[in-house]
Amino acid sequence: MQTPIIGIVSPCYNEELVLRETSLQLNTILKDLIDRKLISEKSFAAFVDDGSNDKTWQVIEEKSSQLEHIKGLKLAGNVGHQNALLAGLITFKEEADALISIDADLQDDVRVIEGMILKFTSGTDVVYGVRKERKTDSFFKKNTALLFYKLMKSMKVNIVYNHADYRLCSKRVLNALADYGEVNLFLRGIIPTIGFKKDVVYYDRLERFAGESKYPFRKMATFAWNGITSFSTYPLKMVTVIGFVIFLICLMMSAYAFIAVFYGQLVPGWLSTVLPMYFLGGIQLFCFGIIGEYVGKIYSEVKQRPRYFIDKRVD
Ligand code: UDP
Ligand code: MG
Repeated sequence: MQTPIIGIVSPCYNEELVLRETSLQLNTILKDLIDRKLISEKSFAAFVDDGSNDKTWQVIEEKSSQLEHIKGLKLAGNVGHQNALLAGLITFKEEADALISIDADLQDDVRVIEGMILKFTSGTDVVYGVRKERKTDSFFKKNTALLFYKLMKSMKVNIVYNHADYRLCSKRVLNALADYGEVNLFLRGIIPTIGFKKDVVYYDRLERFAGESKYPFRKMATFAWNGITSFSTYPLKMVTVIGFVIFLICLMMSAYAFIAVFYGQLVPGWLSTVLPMYFLGGIQLFCFGIIGEYVGKIYSEVKQRPRYFIDKRVD
């Protein structure tokens, strides 16, 4: 095999504070790998500006004119991490043999890029970056993340433990990814369903280089919920189970009432009327809520809206 063209794709939302450093580091790594004849000199790092409202795009333009391997893609508006990453992967897959996705804030250790590429050149299609430990995470983040993976596993969603969106995908995996039309993107769930030969590299996740996390708790919770409801119908099954259990309880209660009437002990009570009413009302609302979530998903999927628009690019 000829030396492969490798592209590194990084979504950025208000990352003006980190981009200078990130582009420099990625450019240096690419240069080194090119010098050592591991990758083609056409290899590049592309930053996708996800509708930032700070100077992110200016920095990307500046860096792409100064450094030889840096490209940029500017989206028309903020479409979120997953869609911005997809925009980058779909746009740049034509220009590379494999793409590596990485966060812009240097939290994913760039030193394992070489390992990913070596696995790719020896025939692997998907290389997942997996975090060794979560030393830099807060107690809260660590445990909510753990809970998330446990929950996903119990709902039979196939995701790689402690893997975020740091991974290498070969061109054929990316072509397959382009066939997925879903709007509620959860790339971690999609990639394993594509198949092909896979492998992992381990790394330590570092502190954010500068700036603040763009994933506050609210976004994180939405993301987790999205992951579950996009890949599992388990919550719908739960509705059925709850309904059935309640039906059984009602049967037992009627049996009890029948016996009580027979022994003349049934006091027509307020509690026995009102309590089940609230109880069933609550359960029903809960179930409707879950069904509503899926209906909402169907709604946004059937609209088949485009997931992003490209404003311009620099090379
Ligand atoms: N990001 C994005 N669009 C958004 C939010 C985040 O492109 O709407 C990017 C962000 O610039 C970063 C990556 O997604 O490169 C991960 O975000 P962040 O580091 O803030 O998340 P955390 O590491 O705290 O989970
Ligand atoms: Mg980060």
